Amino acid sequence: AAVLAEMVEEAAVWCAVHGLVVGDRADPILILPMETSTQRVNITCRFLSFRISCTTPCFCQLQRSGTVPGVGLVHAPFSLLPARFPASFWKQACELAPIFNELVDRVSLDGEFLQAALSRTKQVDEFTARLLEIHEKMKAINKKEDIRLGLHRSDYMLDSETNSLLQIELNTISSSFPGLGSLVSELHRTLLNHYGKVLGLDSKRIPRNWAATQFAEALGKAWAEYNNDSAVVLMVVQPEERNMYDQYWLVSHLKESYGVTTIRKTLAQVEAEGQVLTDGTLVIDGRAVAVVYFRAGYAPADYPSEAEWRARLLMEQSSAIKCPSISYHLVGTKKIQQELAKPNVLERFLDNKEDIAKLRKSFAGLWSLDNEEIVKSAIEKPDLFVLKPQREGGGNNIYGHDLRDMLIKLQKEQGESLAAYILMQRIFPKASLTPLVRGGDCFEDLTISELGIYGAYLRNKDKVILNNQSGYLMRTKVSSSNEGGVAAGFAVLDSILLT
Ligand code: ADP
Ligand code: MG
Ligand code: MG
Repeated sequence: AAVLAEMVEEAAVWCAVHGLVVGDRADPILILPMETSTQRVNITCRFLSFRISCTTPCFCQLQRSGTVPGVGLVHAPFSLLPARFPASFWKQACELAPIFNELVDRVSLDGEFLQAALSRTKQVDEFTARLLEIHEKMKAINKKEDIRLGLHRSDYMLDSETNSLLQIELNTISSSFPGLGSLVSELHRTLLNHYGKVLGLDSKRIPRNWAATQFAEALGKAWAEYNNDSAVVLMVVQPEERNMYDQYWLVSHLKESYGVTTIRKTLAQVEAEGQVLTDGTLVIDGRAVAVVYFRAGYAPADYPSEAEWRARLLMEQSSAIKCPSISYHLVGTKKIQQELAKPNVLERFLDNKEDIAKLRKSFAGLWSLDNEEIVKSAIEKPDLFVLKPQREGGGNNIYGHDLRDMLIKLQKEQGESLAAYILMQRIFPKASLTPLVRGGDCFEDLTISELGIYGAYLRNKDKVILNNQSGYLMRTKVSSSNEGGVAAGFAVLDSILLT
């Protein structure tokens, strides 16, 4: 227990001096009186000093920890020790990364497939419909993306029933924690270097994690392909972001290793300040943009008004490299994941039989809700399934009793409401007792883990410049919680110890 307390303190200090930090949720909220207007207006907020879209009531609640860098910081929640993970599954997950990268690229080129697969979803899911609308517009003008950049994270859990590695989902937009994830591996290595002997754990069994530098490399190389020395990387961000330091790690690597400047803008700011020149150049604030890197724009809440949608369309129309393009974004939807898991669909996009077999082996059961038999089974045994809408960012899935009630309700509704969702086999990882650290306090709980493998892909026409596995992220959550987001407050950051 004395060792544990010592480790917690050393770990918390390590986080502070190495930037393994997030904005503090508990940071005091400032309430500032603002203009009295009943309409949503675009104004330059004198406090944030950038343009925001504002509504009544005429109060602005500001948590500076999510808007102003360098104030209200707290260490990111982490597990005190790395999670044990079998080396064979680790190898399997790493090998899948370049194959999934290639798959995303291939599927993104098949606009007809994307439109057809999402055609029913679009009738009942307004958000997906808006994304498809942009996609359709690009198809209509035959917009080509010669330079394509993907920064993905494929997430897996180990299913204890079948003892297999199964994919949870593939993220193609705003894959988070490349910055902080690499740091957690370093934190654990440092702790094991100091305490490993006492604990009987060898720090060398923690795989090296270069996610931050590898993502920065991909962004830097994409920038170089765009071939305009004065252009910048545009990071599209949410107006309030407590996970900003994860993003700033990439900003910092980009500057230091590639001399590339990054500007951060919200979708509303892009709309207010951006334009596309006749030659296709995206210009913001008078600066040409080489790469648009989205760390916002994946959720309906990111588009509170038409202005944000105009910004998304504007960027898509430009010649800037989009990470992701609208096509890459759509490939990452749950519906497409489910369509790709159908028999003979992977074969449409990939040639290598071994690659196809490897991908398929990682697929859990996935079903659309027009499969009446599965819907019936899910109503009978809801605990064996997860019901997923077309959403990202955690906290959206439906489990257990809610799943049953929702399916019954959707069945009763006329029309296509079932098409907004997919059903997935529920994966049951083995739980283990883990010390978790949050806000400087350590507590032990039964946890399960989800391994994310980052993948970076960059190509220019026929030339594949990068197709790599690019580090990893372990997330560990209390096993009684259904969802897994760290930012959403369900999970902690972790790394792995190969067994
Ligand atoms: P999001 O895009 O919102 O992250 P996910 O598909 O990753 O959506 O689901 C969110 C969380 O729900 C996951 O991190 C995981 O903890 C849990 N989850 C998702 N699918 C399953 C599944 N099939 N079995 C068990 N848990 C799941
Ligand atoms: Mg996701
Ligand atoms: Mg997820």
